[in-house]
Amino acid sequence: MASSSKTEAASSAPSLDAFRDGTSNLPLVDCSKCGAQLIGLVSKQDKSFGQRFYKCPLINHFYMWEDQYVEYLIGKSKLP
Ligand SMILES: [Zn+2]
Repeated sequence: MASSSKTEAASSAPSLDAFRDGTSNLPLVDCSKCGAQLIGLVSKQDKSFGQRFYKCPLINHFYMWEDQYVEYLIGKSKLP
């Protein structure tokens, strides 16, 4: 089965808290396109309210929801 959708993902909280800073952001790496340090924000849009995301502070050319960002950090060995 090659399933990419999980229906009960919300119940599993990975232990990322130890890696968050004072504002609950995960480690902020540099934008892969311009080198500026990414910023962490929380969505205020209805459909995604409360979801944390990470973006380049300069231009909207780098933008990831936290789920994606976690995998990105793992790929960069910033998270185990
Ligand atoms: Zn950038």
